[in-house]
Amino acid sequence: APALYWIRRDLRLADNPALSAAAQDGRPVIPVYIHAPDEAGAWAPGEASNWWLHHSLEALASELAARGVPLVIRHGDSLAALESVIEATGAEAVHWNRLYEPALIRRDKGIKQQLRSRGLEVHSHNAALLHEPWTVQTGTGGDYKAFTPFWRACRRHPEPMAPLPIPGHLTAPAGIEGLNGALEPSDKGNAPLTALQLLPRIDWAGGLRERWQPGERGAARRLEDFLEAALAAYDEGRDLPAVAGTSRLSPHLHFGEIGPRQIWQAVQSTLARHGAEDGLLHGAEAFLAEIGWREFAHHVLYHHPDFPDAPLNPRFADFPWQADPGGRLLGAWQRGETGIPLVDAGMRELYATGWMHNRVRMVVGSFLVKNLRLPWQDGEAWFWDTLVDADLASNSLGWQWVAGSGADAAPYFRVFNPVRQGERFDASGDYVARWIPALARLPARHRHAPWQAPDGVLADAGLTLGVDYPHPMVDLKASRQAALAAFEQIKKPS
Ligand code: FAD
Repeated sequence: APALYWIRRDLRLADNPALSAAAQDGRPVIPVYIHAPDEAGAWAPGEASNWWLHHSLEALASELAARGVPLVIRHGDSLAALESVIEATGAEAVHWNRLYEPALIRRDKGIKQQLRSRGLEVHSHNAALLHEPWTVQTGTGGDYKAFTPFWRACRRHPEPMAPLPIPGHLTAPAGIEGLNGALEPSDKGNAPLTALQLLPRIDWAGGLRERWQPGERGAARRLEDFLEAALAAYDEGRDLPAVAGTSRLSPHLHFGEIGPRQIWQAVQSTLARHGAEDGLLHGAEAFLAEIGWREFAHHVLYHHPDFPDAPLNPRFADFPWQADPGGRLLGAWQRGETGIPLVDAGMRELYATGWMHNRVRMVVGSFLVKNLRLPWQDGEAWFWDTLVDADLASNSLGWQWVAGSGADAAPYFRVFNPVRQGERFDASGDYVARWIPALARLPARHRHAPWQAPDGVLADAGLTLGVDYPHPMVDLKASRQAALAAFEQIKKPS
């Protein structure tokens, strides 16, 4: 009897334990994708994620088709869709790779129980993590609240399992092409890819198309390029937003087009191939630690299901945020019109490409939460909609880190100064100039604080503040003081 492989965010053929198990011993496989965004509860994927998902599914469908296996697509209730495919094909086993979002864990547990009670063989597998969140424990059996001891504990675990190859021979049961026959979603719930309507109605995705190649092949190429070109310099390069110093694997990892075990192994073989010279070793350690932060984010979310919505440190629940009638402050931040160049460059990069450099994510986050004193959840929601790598675990961790309320967070009183950050990490001003062309006309040393440039310099550059580029919307010093005063209010024990 055939086995059903339920595809979720594991859009690849290599190192895919659920697919390999379903196809074991040459058993025919039915790969099924079910579009059920509502099942993610409050965190249904945003617009940029949907754009990515469409193209990634397209890539996966074509990889499967090349092996003679059609991808079955459904939408609506996952259990009902699985049952209908099981009934139509006589499948006797179901395999999937685990997800770690609280709403999806609940759903998957329920579905596993239901299917097993009907006599089906059901197995879930790990494709997304080096170590399952429940296997990394403190000495007393608890979860970790700080990264360094968490990662140390991971490193004491046995080496991650070697990645699995693409199953050598995939076959589909006869007749499953017919399952995708109907072109309209209204037809018995059949929904080929375009009918899922994942692509935006108004096409804003030109910048995304230019930047990204969703799918397993795009992921593999990006990893290879990064290891060759940037790993040795990663330790310093990762902090410079103007250069391609990081891997940009985050959306590929989020959608499971590549898994951390494959990355782990590829790094080890790069080290073996090139000999372990210093730069490469440091680069590799630093890069693997970032993969570790991703693991840590999953660990925290698994143990604290409220993490995306509520501050881990409950004291922050009473933080006196600033009122923002009409969303004026938030809107200026979202559009990249705050008048603070590094912040605006980051927000524009995000909107144009669906991605933002990590250093700049920290800076724009700090500006929102501290200088504008708006709730971190507002930033989290905007990132959720606009990032192609929007990930519940990593996004919550990032925002609670910025806000000072999370696990191993930056202390609230450490307020990033976006001008200093710009001068330090974008000394040439190239990053700011790329995203804010009006500022490219200024000499590099004035690009991060154009309001401080002498009038003559502004005139030479043909730049009028308030016309070509906004005046800063807040005074950085005064707003920092206001943030620290607000923090004093919640610091006092109640
Ligand atoms: P690299 O430097 O090449 O790192 C390799 C991989 O490690 C990344 O692809 C990512 O999977 C992981 N990683 C790196 N840094 C972190 C981190 N701090 N936390 C968790 N994982 C990390 N990352 C997301 O994947 N999705 C998000 O929604 C997200 N939201 C964020 C929000 C804020 C406010 C902040 C400060 C950070 C957020 N990050 C998020 C983390 C980080 O910014 C991105 O993972 C990183 O910029 C992706 O670029 P890269 O792939 O080139 O990273």
